[in-house]
Amino acid sequence: MLTDYHVHLRPDEPDTPAERHFTPANAERYRTVAEEQGIAELGVAEHIYRFSAALDVWDHPFWRQWASDDLDAYCGFIREETDLKLGIEMDFVPGREDRIANVLEERDWDYVVGSIHFLRDLSLDTHEHSIWGAGESPDRVWRRYFETLAESARSGLYDIIGHPDLVKVWGDRVRAPEGDLRRYYEPAVEAFADAGVAVEVSTAGLRKPVGEIYPSRAYLEMLVDAGCPIALSSDAHTPEQLGFRYEQALELLDEAGVREIAVFERRARRLEPVG
Ligand SMILES: [Zn+2]
Ligand SMILES: [Zn+2]
Repeated sequence: MLTDYHVHLRPDEPDTPAERHFTPANAERYRTVAEEQGIAELGVAEHIYRFSAALDVWDHPFWRQWASDDLDAYCGFIREETDLKLGIEMDFVPGREDRIANVLEERDWDYVVGSIHFLRDLSLDTHEHSIWGAGESPDRVWRRYFETLAESARSGLYDIIGHPDLVKVWGDRVRAPEGDLRRYYEPAVEAFADAGVAVEVSTAGLRKPVGEIYPSRAYLEMLVDAGCPIALSSDAHTPEQLGFRYEQALELLDEAGVREIAVFERRARRLEPVG
């Protein structure tokens, strides 16, 4: 079994309206590539901040700029006009757990991907609102990132923790702490294991400046030792990015001793042999 669950039907770019991308023809383009790549389990997880319902959770200027689409129309489209699994990429915003729960509870997801792109008001992975150069050391940013990730798992809101070391995205020495990075991963791994949440292996990092799968090999080995279920995705934003460099991910999974991957239906998880 191969999965690709963390998939977007459109790029994170202006002029990508729902009416042009949430169409049966576009979904079919993704399904065709998935079939060519042997990916049987295909699902979407659009960014929550593209939907106006996101503003009930958080009113950051970045979200206000993007939040325009109707969340229920998205869910209805996926359920009624496609055979894709229905997911959502729901940012974790500390202190807003109740509001996140309200948005999630009203819809029948197959899975919810938790992600952290911001620490307080500052962004880890965009040039706008960037946390980098805003006065905090890489050590402090990394520590806060993994502590917040632990908190997201303990919230119980999520089925999958997405791109679990996104903080490394820029891949340069200025924005990474020195030495063995396992000290940062530890609190997160412990929280994932306690919460029983699945953790994503994502090939998206291979398309980013860091040029490395999320999570790093050492981190993945810690996750395996802790018994965390693993989910496999590409975080594709176009059909061409579906299953991006999965052969590299499968090699990493094999070397780390991962034999099964997580499969979801209506927020119930089971494990299937990987490959
Ligand atoms: Zn993301
Ligand atoms: Zn994503």
